[in-house]
Amino acid sequence: MKKIAIVTGGGSGIGLAITERFVQNNIHTIIIGRDEQKLCAAKEKLGPLCEPLVGDLNDLASIPKLVNGIIEKHGQIDVLVNNAGINMKKEFTDVTDEDFQRIILTNVTAVFALSREVVKSMMKKGVKGAIINISSMASQYGIPKVIAYTASKSAIEGMTKAMAVELSPKGIRINCIAPGFIATDMSAKALNNDPERKFKALDRTPMGELGKPSDIGDAAVFLASEAASYITGVVLPVDGGNSVGF
Ligand code: NDP
Repeated sequence: MKKIAIVTGGGSGIGLAITERFVQNNIHTIIIGRDEQKLCAAKEKLGPLCEPLVGDLNDLASIPKLVNGIIEKHGQIDVLVNNAGINMKKEFTDVTDEDFQRIILTNVTAVFALSREVVKSMMKKGVKGAIINISSMASQYGIPKVIAYTASKSAIEGMTKAMAVELSPKGIRINCIAPGFIATDMSAKALNNDPERKFKALDRTPMGELGKPSDIGDAAVFLASEAASYITGVVLPVDGGNSVGF
């Protein structure tokens, strides 16, 4: 039977690359995002195994209905990739409480709410599922001017472990990928106007270059597959060595 996956933020950057790899591996992949045009362009590129679903994950109340709609249409969800995320680069003292909450809502609370609904469906249907969270180098070491983003990604790594110990006995594996500096719109915004930051990012990357979104796609395919059937609770850096760089 064909596997059914959800990739949040699957219309661009890393999420699009994960979706591309899933589709190449015959996984029917539902991509969720707010920008319909972006999602449709992804479908146009990737074909019938890519299914766009417009939704704003910040609208927590809409999430149970969104998941139920997928279950009604496809019967079950086998894989969830919590990839959607936002970043904000600001001096520590300029970050307002509203700024902080906005990042936490998208990067943490929505991830929890969606995972909870998907896990409920997996347990109800007896699905041996896989959930993949996306963290960042911001939780491997300190990066200035990204306080809320760092808090959110550290939370994701903690949640990965807590979910793994609670849900793995029920047959659901939870893992996390910590991408290094990957060439996407998000990293371009953070690095291109800040040559010093870009130099630092590359200087401590032993492999000497930014990663490609497909590098994360390859890792996600592995963690979602039977080849990773005894792997749960790990945070896998896919970073050209950045997290251990000197
Ligand atoms: P992009 O900005 O290209 O992608 C982010 C995606 O998230 C978009 O497709 C966006 O879709 C979606 N999204 C954001 N908010 C919402 C929301 N409220 N509801 C639904 N979808 C939403 O960034 P990247 O591809 O670079 O990042 C993907 C993930 O990888 C993020 O979690 C990021 O933190 C992480 N990461 C990226 C790194 C990098 O170097 N690029 C490094 C480390 C981690 P839409 O606009 O349509 O809503």
